Amino acid sequence: MTQGVTQQAIGTTHQWRGVIEEFRGRLDIPDGTPTVTLREGGTPLVESGWLSELLGADVWLKVEGDNPTGSFKDRGMTVALSVAVGQGAEAVVCASTGNTSASMAAYAARARVKPLVLVPQGKIATGKLAQALIHGAQVIMVRGNFDDCLTISRGLAEHYPVALVNSVNPMRLQGQKTASFEVVDFLGDAPDVHVLPTGNAGNISAYWLGYTEALADGSATKAPVMRGWQAWGAAPLVDGAPVKNPETLASAIRIGNPASWTLAVRAAEESGGTFRKVTDDQILAAQRSLASRDGVFVEPASAAGVAGLLLEREEGADLRGRTVVVTVTGHGLKDVDTALATFTDIVDTVVDVDVEAAARAAGLE
Ligand SMILES: *Cc1c(COP(=O)(O)O)cnc(C)c1O
Repeated sequence: MTQGVTQQAIGTTHQWRGVIEEFRGRLDIPDGTPTVTLREGGTPLVESGWLSELLGADVWLKVEGDNPTGSFKDRGMTVALSVAVGQGAEAVVCASTGNTSASMAAYAARARVKPLVLVPQGKIATGKLAQALIHGAQVIMVRGNFDDCLTISRGLAEHYPVALVNSVNPMRLQGQKTASFEVVDFLGDAPDVHVLPTGNAGNISAYWLGYTEALADGSATKAPVMRGWQAWGAAPLVDGAPVKNPETLASAIRIGNPASWTLAVRAAEESGGTFRKVTDDQILAAQRSLASRDGVFVEPASAAGVAGLLLEREEGADLRGRTVVVTVTGHGLKDVDTALATFTDIVDTVVDVDVEAAARAAGLE
């Protein structure tokens, strides 16, 4: 890509090249696949001082909101779009609770293919909808939930010339597994425990794929216990059966019939882990604590793993001396409505243009 060449020529600092160029040799993708990238991945592993102290463990946050479109979906989308374009696709389709469509629309714009998005009517966070629209996606609202949208997307891809880029597309998991490689690179080994929110269950499956590959190629000496956290009203993997009308404020994990069910169950079993669930109140409390104590603002679904850790601590789980990685999956700015809803009684201090009045209001005198 000429743009990249120019940047290399005029600068000396190394810029992260995106997950395909950084990890091409470790990705199971067709030879000669072109690269459609926004230089995703390479996200920071940020130590959580708050959680480390609370648990007596080394707790790290894998901050996936730092990806180009604000969620981990970009890792899979760079690969899915690159492979689709390499195979001559001219249009791509996905079902989405929001972040998949935001990501797909951005990568489709770069690849100059047509993005078609199916979302549940009225159920998508405004930030995510804005992203899909501004990147040029055609957005179709479905009178149904995410699972219905996925059924339609599969049907469209089967009968019409559009490529499906949901995580049922194995290329998505190839991209997403790179997050495990980054964790292992940074920590020098795999953590003891890896915690993350789980909806359609592609991500936990991809992390496990990455960790088992890292173990097999010798870059890690162990694989972590995988713990997936679902929302109380959308917990099919916990309850052991699909949920017909999933309900939770955490819209990114409002999914009743996970596409990667079998892979995810295998990841939990093989790693000695579990799926469990937390309530919306626990999720919102964790979201707020993470923002106010660690300076990391994530969307509600992204806080499910942190909520889970807190719940396990209350129950008496002992993680002392362990290394724990928690993936926080998406940026808080995606869904400001939910974040602001809890503050209606707090942001109401109005003063005249007067230093003393401001000081009084701030409790400084
Ligand atoms: C997609 C998504 C999830 C759920 O990931 P799955 O792979 O569907 O389990 C969680 N959080 C955010 C922010 C997401 O965008």
